[in-house]
Amino acid sequence: QIPTLSLLYKLSRIPLDADHLPSHESNATFNDKISIIKADITSLVIDGIVNAANEALLGGGGVDGAIHRAAGPDLVDECRGLDGCDAGDAKITDGYDLPSKKVIHAVGPRWYALGPEDAQAKLKSCYRRGLELAVEHQLKSIAFPAISTGVFSYPNVKACNDALSEVRKFLDEGKGDGLQRIIFCNFLQKDQDIYYKNVSKHFPPV
Ligand code: ADP
Repeated sequence: QIPTLSLLYKLSRIPLDADHLPSHESNATFNDKISIIKADITSLVIDGIVNAANEALLGGGGVDGAIHRAAGPDLVDECRGLDGCDAGDAKITDGYDLPSKKVIHAVGPRWYALGPEDAQAKLKSCYRRGLELAVEHQLKSIAFPAISTGVFSYPNVKACNDALSEVRKFLDEGKGDGLQRIIFCNFLQKDQDIYYKNVSKHFPPV
């Protein structure tokens, strides 16, 4: 029997468990699947982390640079064989020296290169493709950074709402049943605050 939405999205602050998530007083789990944490994504012991990559998939600044540094040179070697990736799409690699088993390289939109509607469609597509790849590769846990909100200049509040609404939609479509934990991993306190403020619009308390 399919659980009702209110059961699925019940707001419960159950503690983070053996996912080995870092302890932080503002971390919380909002239902049986969604967590919002503030952490360095390269420190997570998890099945998959998402990289906010660029089209070349050969490393860059921000979270991309941090992931490549922590994974070691084997990551860029594998990436060289992937032939790049379009904005809005994602490709998966191993995690190498990272504690995460896999890395899903998603290419976010550059806010100023696209109109807002195009940018929104591409940002949502990054989250969807990330989730699809996670399911396809039987990952149980996946963490997303705030894609496009750094160098790519996507407005932070809009990025948060677009990410939450697309993940909610994916779950409502029944496509994320194999996933046990979807983590929004913020690096900046500003984004952590934005996620806390906006999460209940998409995953309302009951
Ligand atoms: P983009 O080019 O997609 O904008 P950036 O790496 O510049 O990517 O920024 C995306 C987000 O990743 C920003 O919110 C930034 O603060 C965050 N970030 C940077 N380093 C890390 C990290 N080690 N772990 C998690 N998030 C990070």
